[in-house]
Amino acid sequence: MSTLARDLAAQVGPSRVMVRPADLASYAFDAFGAAGERHLPDAIVFPGNTDEVSAVMRVCAHHGVPVVPRGAGTGYAGGAVALGGGVVLNLCRMTRVLAREADAMRVLVEAGTITAQVHHLAAAQRLYYPPDPGSAPTSTIGGNVACNASGAHHLLYGGTADYLVGATAVLADGRIVRLGEGADGGAELLRLLCGSEGTLAVVTEVLLRLVPAPATRATLAAAYDGMQGATDAAAALVAARILPAALEVIDGAALDAVAATGADPVAPGAGALVLVELEGDATEVAAQVAAVRTALEGAGATRVIAAEDEQESHRLWATRKAISAAVAAVMIGKVNEDVCVPRDRVAELVTVARAAGERHGVPVVTFGHLGDGVVHATFLIDPRRRGDRERGDAAAAKVFGAVLDMGGSLTGEHGCGYVKLPFVERQLGEDTLRLMRRIKASLDPRGLLNPGKKIPPAPQTPAEVEPSAVEAAAH
Ligand SMILES: Cc1cc2nc3c(=O)[nH]c(=O)nc-3n(C[C@H](O)[C@H](O)[C@H](O)COP(=O)(O)OP(=O)(O)OC[C@H]3O[C@@H](n4cnc5c(N)ncnc54)[C@H](O)[C@@H]3O)c2cc1C
Repeated sequence: MSTLARDLAAQVGPSRVMVRPADLASYAFDAFGAAGERHLPDAIVFPGNTDEVSAVMRVCAHHGVPVVPRGAGTGYAGGAVALGGGVVLNLCRMTRVLAREADAMRVLVEAGTITAQVHHLAAAQRLYYPPDPGSAPTSTIGGNVACNASGAHHLLYGGTADYLVGATAVLADGRIVRLGEGADGGAELLRLLCGSEGTLAVVTEVLLRLVPAPATRATLAAAYDGMQGATDAAAALVAARILPAALEVIDGAALDAVAATGADPVAPGAGALVLVELEGDATEVAAQVAAVRTALEGAGATRVIAAEDEQESHRLWATRKAISAAVAAVMIGKVNEDVCVPRDRVAELVTVARAAGERHGVPVVTFGHLGDGVVHATFLIDPRRRGDRERGDAAAAKVFGAVLDMGGSLTGEHGCGYVKLPFVERQLGEDTLRLMRRIKASLDPRGLLNPGKKIPPAPQTPAEVEPSAVEAAAH
């Protein structure tokens, strides 16, 4: 056992430190690299509480070893892998519910708590925690904070940042900080943590705001010949001044993938399916159902289904929820992008993605949160086939370029990780990046927390470049 592993074991116990290559291999990838890329850490450590996280951070700082916080590894941007080695700090043991504050409509949980567990905790108090990433049955709340995760209901309710009211976090040197409500000040710092992808601090405890559960829900599905119809449907809802709780879209290729698994894709053969969910009190929702139906039909729907009961509503949503598994069944790998463009340009972006897929010989399925302009352009690849990963990446790069030309964002919800780093500067500009690097350096001056993620490295100054390289550049 190395000195590092021995020192870690002294803090958390020998059974909480893994160094055998067979164990390390399971943590060498996240959902992005599930079908290919591997980055072996030097050790994995499983602390059980904030104090142990602090102790682990002190040990790693002493050894000058990078640390990568990790929740469930469902991230799609390679954020939870140790590029170039280091220690993976896995929070999966930290699942305690620390406080249920029904009257204050809040809940305090440890960072390793599964997102769906937060939904259950809220429901048990007849309350509601709206952020609902598709990965909720597996992702952790700490990972959700780190990525500012959101889901279908972002349109009406917002994302994780809108419900995060307090957190305990551990800095790169092991210091423990408490931010947000309950602490003096710190609310602004809390916001900084949300979406920092494990580059600024390790989140260990999370205080979340809950809201009253809506009295009624109604779901409608509308089939269209193509994606333009779906974009027109979104515009028609805006024109009618209706803000649904969720407004989702699934393209024909994704519907075909769902159908190929034997599941009922609701509108087989359609070019696009739009799902609308309404929430509120019963009278208000009933009135909106009629108005939504009119708007969907006015946008050229070939068929509109309004769920009569909860069972039918589940059936309509089942198609949307089945996509990830269906895509995995059609092809073993994927390059899954979550870009964001102005809502009225979704159809145009899907056309770009299809053209990129055709050009590089990789099929593509698209679906996403139409109301927010978030498009998951998923290129299907077989990583065992030579060149498939590169073809998928090349097609994704075309999508990124088009997104930035449209004034959109490289990520709607999955984060940048290392996967999107090459494109970040073009989106944010050098001045913004310089600011981000200064914030990072003030919290983590030695760059030990999740290096190589989210923020592209600063260009080397001439003094840092090897003399021979300077000479070569001069000639
Ligand atoms: C099938 C599927 C569906 C998905 N659907 C959605 C969706 O609808 N919306 C959405 O937003 N995302 C979605 N995702 C992406 C992913 O689930 C989210 O980004 C999620 O927030 C990651 O949580 P995790 O616990 O798995 O984090 P990990 O993947 O383990 O880590 C993700 C990042 O967070 C950092 N991190 C993790 N825990 C901590 C912590 N405690 N402190 C500091 N940093 C930490 C890691 O270093 C890494 O950079 C989906 C993924 C899958 C596989």
